[in-house]
Amino acid sequence: MSDSSNSSANTHTKNNPQAGLGANQCAAVPAAAKQPVGQIRLEMAVQYLKGVGPARAGAFAKLGVNTVGDLLEYYPRDWDFAPGAMKIGQLKAGETAAIVGLVESTDYRPYSRQPVFEVMLADETGICKVVWFHGGYLRNQVNPGQMMMAWGKVSEYKNQLQLANPKFRIIEQQIQKPEEFFSGGVYAAVGGLSSGQIKKIIRPVLEGLEGLVGEFYEDEFRKKAELTGRKDAISWIHLPPDEEKLARAKRRLKFDELFLMQTGLALRRHRHNCFASAVAMKFTEEIDRRIRRRFPFLLTEEQDKCIGEIVGDMQKRQPMNRLLQGDVGCGKTVVALYATLLAVANKTQAAIMAPTEILANQHLVSIERYLRDSDVKRVLITGGLTGSKRTEILKQIKNGEIDIVVGTVALLEKDIEFKKLGLAVIDEQHKFGVHQRAELRKDGTPHCLVMTATPIPRTLAMTVFGDLDVSIIGKSPPGRGEVVTRWVAAEDRIKAYEFIKERLRARKQAYFVFPRITGMEEEGDVKAATDGWRELSKVFGEYKVELLHGRMNSEKKQKIMTEFRKGKIDVLVATVVIEVGVDIPNATIMVIEGADRFGLAQLHQLRGRIGRGTDKSFCFLFAEFHKSNQDPENEVAKSRLEMMERSNDGFEIAEHDLKLRGPGELFSTRQHGLPDLKIANIIDDYDLLVMARRCAFELVSTDPMLTVPNHKNIRRALITKFGEALGLADVA
Ligand code: ADP
Ligand code: MG
Repeated sequence: MSDSSNSSANTHTKNNPQAGLGANQCAAVPAAAKQPVGQIRLEMAVQYLKGVGPARAGAFAKLGVNTVGDLLEYYPRDWDFAPGAMKIGQLKAGETAAIVGLVESTDYRPYSRQPVFEVMLADETGICKVVWFHGGYLRNQVNPGQMMMAWGKVSEYKNQLQLANPKFRIIEQQIQKPEEFFSGGVYAAVGGLSSGQIKKIIRPVLEGLEGLVGEFYEDEFRKKAELTGRKDAISWIHLPPDEEKLARAKRRLKFDELFLMQTGLALRRHRHNCFASAVAMKFTEEIDRRIRRRFPFLLTEEQDKCIGEIVGDMQKRQPMNRLLQGDVGCGKTVVALYATLLAVANKTQAAIMAPTEILANQHLVSIERYLRDSDVKRVLITGGLTGSKRTEILKQIKNGEIDIVVGTVALLEKDIEFKKLGLAVIDEQHKFGVHQRAELRKDGTPHCLVMTATPIPRTLAMTVFGDLDVSIIGKSPPGRGEVVTRWVAAEDRIKAYEFIKERLRARKQAYFVFPRITGMEEEGDVKAATDGWRELSKVFGEYKVELLHGRMNSEKKQKIMTEFRKGKIDVLVATVVIEVGVDIPNATIMVIEGADRFGLAQLHQLRGRIGRGTDKSFCFLFAEFHKSNQDPENEVAKSRLEMMERSNDGFEIAEHDLKLRGPGELFSTRQHGLPDLKIANIIDDYDLLVMARRCAFELVSTDPMLTVPNHKNIRRALITKFGEALGLADVA
């Protein structure tokens, strides 16, 4: 039970005299106050509801509630179940009861050990004492002659039954179901609008749901899927008759929310497929042979499978809209490059967009590696490119002299025009929003391939990337050595160093990664890279130990990386700058200091730097706290480190990460142009999500504009949630 309803007096107020004292805590409830039912519409502004003026409408707006429809979807955060009303004569000690009676007398005794406010409440069957400790503030609100409802636990005191600190209401006249006033939703409140007030505003609306809330689905489907009617669900979520009905209401409303989201995605995809057109690429064995010749290895079966899917898409006029997924180092870049070269072979241009300059650079480097001595022209565009050099390059892009443009978001600058953009590759999609994905398409619609740096949990693949087709590289290229990960206890540090020395003696190389560049007082004992470098230079005295971090100039960084690549440096002490784009097979040791400071995805990314050659690799994790530490504050970090020891599977790790962090932190539905989820949770409600997705895509495949009369309620709900973006509004 929640004690936060502002329209109740309860023990909570004892410690916090301010709590629960909303302006009209005990304002009379206009019993049987009914809205002129039939005049209310879902689109109507809440301000026109009884009990809502401009001030409260403003408070509602802060809660995201503007219309009656929003109000009905302002779901409670908790629920009270008050027992049925009883006559005073039937009360028994120990039970919880709601009673209604006349206030016969009131009394305040401030000088007893606990100051107490007393009411004698009477109905036709008896009289009951109702007391509030520290209830002095009630003197002005409760007076003899009033009708009062009270709800609480019945106790016995000096052989008399009484209610102590109950929730209560002053009412104007006898009402039928007093328990309903104490039951039902408890709402997240906001300044100027308490849960109790929201309750009072919403209840009358619930009585007129007929005609206000339309059903989405046919009876047959609802039966099969065991979904309660929408009208009942809305009514029960706010005022559930019992727990079982509440559960049914939740399930139905979660399903609806997921279903509407998925229908929106299905429509988005449908529109994209129908209304845009791209260059249908020609594909021949000769082209395939020429592209493959560029790679110094055979493509794996998994890469071939993905390439097959991509080529299939690119041969159509319908623009490709595909997500390429796979673990770090599994060979995605190579697949993307294949697609790029197919576009170039078809005399169109390709753009590759990465989220950071380092990554964009890295792409160019690997492209250079594969395209050495080819006449394919490629350039890099970043924010740093300015002046006449930029002007010249833009000119070349515009007249088609340049085939491949690699860059950062700087690629989206308005003045960049392509002669004929055939393919857009977007790396690390999750750092961009869907809007940017759309922007790269401004000059006609190229085929679009989205890559992510780490695997995406299936739930996210179905939601924020839900309008994309998905290709997955499930296995890395063969011949990679095993990677063993250990969380090392502080007392075993020397042992770990000894082990590393042995590997160095065998001419292997090591990374030491630190969470920060330099030490900071307030960070306590978190080791910084510069300090670590000094210390490790002593520990590994006979080896060459170098430092690398983001604040060094790029020339220096470049030089150190080159030396490390050539094996001239044995130990590289670094920050996360080495997280992406470094591929040195002879480096088989990775030590991560302050590993508890890193997120799971990042740890996995870092570890992806080793295990690239055929030798066995080792990843050592050092945490700031001791392994046996029971401090709950470290629980999440502990769980992450244990996961790292247990698994090398990026998909499994991503899934675990999502569970640890919750969906809210990892993705913003808004950013991806999707409505917020108010009641469903993509992790907990995974089964519903799968079902909703299937139904939504089925619906859109049979009725893509939702013009079938039976679908009008779905259509209306979609327009409300997605606005005009889905193009539904223009069809009557
Ligand atoms: P990702 O982009 O998925 O992280 P990359 O495409 O950068 O992976 O590939 C990682 C490494 O594997 C690179 O060094 C690349 O040259 C190598 N590689 C990719 N495909 C193959 C293959 N089929 N056989 C052998 N090595 C490969
Ligand atoms: Mg890569």
